[in-house]
Amino acid sequence: MLTKDAAICIRATDFSETSQIVTFFTRATGKISAIAKGSKRPKSAFDGPIEVLSYGKIVFSDSTKEKLAVLTEFEQQPGFTNLAADLFALNCVSFAAELVDKLTDDYDPHPELFDSFLQFLQNAQDTQKKRSTLVLLILFQLALLKEVGLRPILNACANCKNSFSADWPQCYFSNSANGLICKDCEASFPDKIRLTKTAANCLANVKLIAESDEKTLNEIEKILIFHFTEILGRPPKMAKYILKD
Ligand SMILES: [Zn+2]
Repeated sequence: MLTKDAAICIRATDFSETSQIVTFFTRATGKISAIAKGSKRPKSAFDGPIEVLSYGKIVFSDSTKEKLAVLTEFEQQPGFTNLAADLFALNCVSFAAELVDKLTDDYDPHPELFDSFLQFLQNAQDTQKKRSTLVLLILFQLALLKEVGLRPILNACANCKNSFSADWPQCYFSNSANGLICKDCEASFPDKIRLTKTAANCLANVKLIAESDEKTLNEIEKILIFHFTEILGRPPKMAKYILKD
């Protein structure tokens, strides 16, 4: 049986001189890996070699657990070629693609996450401003965590459940608690990281993120990278390109 779906390529590896193994995040089917036979030939059914973050309609044959799906068509949309001109934005969306790949399961659909990812690609291409791109990345990462059932507790202490208040004398983030930790509870969480008041306030009131300065955004992104590192058991490959300066 053939399935047609909207898809964003999140991983592509060479399989042979002419073929690739590609992983797509699709809207209705979720993540799928497929062999794209002959994709690297000058004339293929896929409009040329398939690159990460290319986007469009795909047709693929059903796979079983033991067998890869076979990609039969890929009608590429103009896509996000402008991203190549903005290295920081390209790194941020590549990081997002890596996280979607690592945190979602094959054939587990998340149509809302697909829409957010597509919107993120579009907005990152349009903004061309580092601060705005960082805002988009942080909001996408929070949406991703929510979609995969790992939504952190950010409006209260994840341990004692006391509501967050801007006058908390100290505030921490703990991966093991999956959220903010207050001063009274912090001693029980050796993995905690102390947050500045501004960063804690932004995490507790996500709407403030869009107006935050770059320093606060960098602090929040650092916390999220630490969090993803703990969730995945190793640092995401793209993480080092996000906070290098
Ligand atoms: Zn507490």
